[in-house]
Amino acid sequence: MDLHLKDKVVVVTGGAKGIGAAIVRACADEGAIPMIIDRDAEAGAKLQAELRGLKSGLVVVDLSAAEACRQAVEETNSKFGRIDALVNNAGCNDKVGLEQGSPADYLASLNRNLLHYYHMAHFALPLLKQSKGPIVNISSKTALTGQGGTSGYASSKGAILALTREWAVELLPYGIRVNAIVPAEVMTPLYRQWLDTFPDPEEKRKTILSKIPLEKRMTSAEEIAATVMFLISSRSSHTTGQYLFVDGGYVHLDRAAT
Ligand code: NAP
Repeated sequence: MDLHLKDKVVVVTGGAKGIGAAIVRACADEGAIPMIIDRDAEAGAKLQAELRGLKSGLVVVDLSAAEACRQAVEETNSKFGRIDALVNNAGCNDKVGLEQGSPADYLASLNRNLLHYYHMAHFALPLLKQSKGPIVNISSKTALTGQGGTSGYASSKGAILALTREWAVELLPYGIRVNAIVPAEVMTPLYRQWLDTFPDPEEKRKTILSKIPLEKRMTSAEEIAATVMFLISSRSSHTTGQYLFVDGGYVHLDRAAT
């Protein structure tokens, strides 16, 4: 199926590694032009090199500052003159909880995980209005299941789901669709880091796998990326305000049956 993404400029926050990098590769496979927005300059440059001359862009910024988000949008506009889709993906499960953490830590976690989703959409909106470009927000199962000990991350991911519906309504007049993807367990550098905080990471990994209903395996970053490609393509032209759970049934299926 042709997704009609050729030459579309797709902004991917956190695009240098993990799920974001898989989205960038999928964009390149579809002939789109991925714009990587990430603070990891080395990983971003390495990924661009891997794309071997295919058109792409890289802006190295820490998205925690609103100004950095403005810069990311402005640099994309001056390089390519348009934005055809925005994928808000950057985030980190930073374990700022009720007991481990302070009000200042909590605020900093919201800044790392939530505020840049708004800032990127806000600054990109004039360009998205011109292209009727869709927005995809990456949330997390923790928005619905909780995790324990991660108030900042879980509440950010919950707010991201609320913003998805809110923006889907607000942007109806412009024909801009807004959807969210809810991953659960995807092996990425961030996930590896989180797993390594447990006394026996391998044992923990096995326990998690045993609870994933479909095929007792993790979701691959490529499976998340494929769903992003569908949501940014005109093939999903009547899909808006939706949460897609790409999680092997982790959140919704009857645990007693598996
Ligand atoms: P990852 O492996 O850490 O990759 C994310 C990339 O984004 C990294 O290069 C990271 O840089 C960058 N980044 C993070 N915050 C940034 C910021 N403020 N400014 C600029 N760059 C930033 O993470 P991932 O596992 O692919 O996660 C991607 C998204 O999926 C996140 O929103 C996460 O919450 C969500 N998610 C992941 C899972 C999972 O199982 N992996 C499950 C549910 C939801 P650094 O390495 O310097 O931090």
